[in-house]
Amino acid sequence: MTIEDKVVVEVEALRDELVHLTARLVRVPTVNPPGEHYVHAIHMLSEELRRHGYAIEHVAPRGAAREHPRVNVIARKDGTSPRPTLHFNGHIDVVPAGEGWDRDPFSGAVADGRVWGRGSSDQKAGIAASIFAIEAIRRAGVRLRGSVEQSVTVDEESGGLAGMAELCEQGRISRERTDFVVITEPLGVDRVCLGHRGVYWFEVVAHGRTAHGSMPTLGRNAANAMARFIARVQGELAPRLASRRTAVPVEPASARSPSINLNSLHAGQSVDDEQTPCVPDRAVAVFDRRFIQEESLDDVRAEIASLLDRQRGEDGDIRWEVRERMTVEPVATPREARVVGALGAAIQAVRRQPATLIASPGTYDQKHVVRIAGVEECVAYGPGVLETAHQPNEYVEIADLVDATKVMALATMALVGAD
Ligand SMILES: [Zn+2]
Repeated sequence: MTIEDKVVVEVEALRDELVHLTARLVRVPTVNPPGEHYVHAIHMLSEELRRHGYAIEHVAPRGAAREHPRVNVIARKDGTSPRPTLHFNGHIDVVPAGEGWDRDPFSGAVADGRVWGRGSSDQKAGIAASIFAIEAIRRAGVRLRGSVEQSVTVDEESGGLAGMAELCEQGRISRERTDFVVITEPLGVDRVCLGHRGVYWFEVVAHGRTAHGSMPTLGRNAANAMARFIARVQGELAPRLASRRTAVPVEPASARSPSINLNSLHAGQSVDDEQTPCVPDRAVAVFDRRFIQEESLDDVRAEIASLLDRQRGEDGDIRWEVRERMTVEPVATPREARVVGALGAAIQAVRRQPATLIASPGTYDQKHVVRIAGVEECVAYGPGVLETAHQPNEYVEIADLVDATKVMALATMALVGAD
């Protein structure tokens, strides 16, 4: 029996503990926003990691204390030498449950070969998998040459600033100490996610002039002007974006073209209030522009600016403004990266089929690892059903949870070395 076979057998034997930890985590409703029960969940995981022989450190974000406290845990287990270091990261926060559930979203029920509940896929199963992957290696009597770190962080769903960005900014994850990072997001047991598209989130404000609604020609209607701008976005920009394609294997394939979504729109009086006859003097539209590796943020910005210039040409009596809300550069780890190769080989061994390399349409914490920490060897890999993430009746298949744990264990041995 090879050491790999022994480790796989140990993962099988850990099935109940894997399920139990996943279900226990689902039962702590770490809902973000606003960021509930973080401290409870992080302490629960700190105890679990300590029990598995890790040295624990808590990292709180710098800056003002908040009503809902934020704290992250980083745990380290030294091998026979400090390097290479493989770092697993998972986020503890979950999006609100929303409507339409057939069971209590935080029951952590185990039924039909699945663990059910908000956060089961995204991504408490991933956290349990990386912890038990390393535990299976230990139980198999295998010694790792390099070191393993596990971090559990907050606020990924809202941009990761108090979580993964903070670990990177405080130097806990850095090129100087971290060789490989695996983020355990629920991309699916057979898929390695190389990165994600970029984001240019901006708002356009049209300033007009108010007047009595019975004499609209005396005012300048900002809402009408905004409607014309939106029509230009739909008529000119959207088809141009649809004609561009990235070479990065974004899934679903429809997201291989860049996109623009009108996220929010407001002008005039609140519809919930009683109305008085007024020409709206201000209109605001928030746009979510996702861009591909082949586009640069500067080009994306310039394209919007030139679209707005043309609108100014037609609507010169309106004052137009663009405000940036958030920008994220795309990231894509090369297919030749060692972390990609190790996970790919492990998927082949466990699942008896080649790994599918994908990229994500939406952003996740990889941006911080690549941009702030400068660690290029970073991917996402984890169990879960991506399609059920953020939906009612979220679940993770226990069989996938077990297989992903095996994949993580085999990849760890390949990346840091094992005797
Ligand atoms: Zn997630």
